[in-house]
Amino acid sequence: LLRLEDATVRFGGRAALDAVGLGVAEHEIVCVLGPSGSGKSTLLRAVAGLQPLDAGRILLDGRDQAGVPAHKRGVGLMFQDHQLFPQRDVGGNVAFGLRMHGTPRAEQTRRVQELLELVGLPGASGRAVAALSGGEQQRVALARALAPSPRLLMLDEPLGQLDRSLRERLVVELRELFGRLGTTVLAVTHDQGEAFALADRVVVMRDGRIAQSGTPLEVWQRPADAFVARFLGFEN
Ligand code: ATP
Ligand code: MG
Repeated sequence: LLRLEDATVRFGGRAALDAVGLGVAEHEIVCVLGPSGSGKSTLLRAVAGLQPLDAGRILLDGRDQAGVPAHKRGVGLMFQDHQLFPQRDVGGNVAFGLRMHGTPRAEQTRRVQELLELVGLPGASGRAVAALSGGEQQRVALARALAPSPRLLMLDEPLGQLDRSLRERLVVELRELFGRLGTTVLAVTHDQGEAFALADRVVVMRDGRIAQSGTPLEVWQRPADAFVARFLGFEN
């Protein structure tokens, strides 16, 4: 579904993405791990079309995305700071992407109900965003990202602001939800427990490069190098 070939993004003289090669298959859940500043968000923004490449290619379904604007790529992105629209109610937030696609109003309403049920907030459509808990807001942001049925859903620290017990519960729910919908997911997190629980495959980044890519078990049992081992918390 998605392939990056030598994808490179430079800021000043420094490469935030340094010749990254990565493939994501249909229905696969890939989690990108790595320290702060390793290029995780830049990777997602490049695939979403919000950050042009300085070199290399991004292909979706085999088609080069160079010059294809963000809204024509068919990918959904949930940002690190999920930023709901505070002046709109829950339904208005979830319907945002549908309105942009010109979905008829009755269809929008039906789809919003369906999505809110999916994320475990049935009947919340008319509620004010400010009156929701952090976890509820995160679910609304997820429903908003899922609304246009993106063929690739990208999540940047989707559970970032939540406490540990809520994160652990939501991760299990998300894995179940994506499995049921057959969603292809590329998610960023710096929490390895979260990545290992959610992912079919884990990618560890370091300084704009991929230090290791493998199943959670492979990465856990055989870290590729001392950096990955240290990042996973092994003394080595
Ligand atoms: P975090 O875990 O803190 O979110 P990250 O892995 O998502 O980190 P990125 O946001 O991708 O890291 O940033 C990678 C590098 O690129 C960093 O050194 C950052 O300072 C730099 N960078 C990112 N965006 C820009 C920008 N718009 N202009 C200049 N430098 C940038
Ligand atoms: Mg980031």
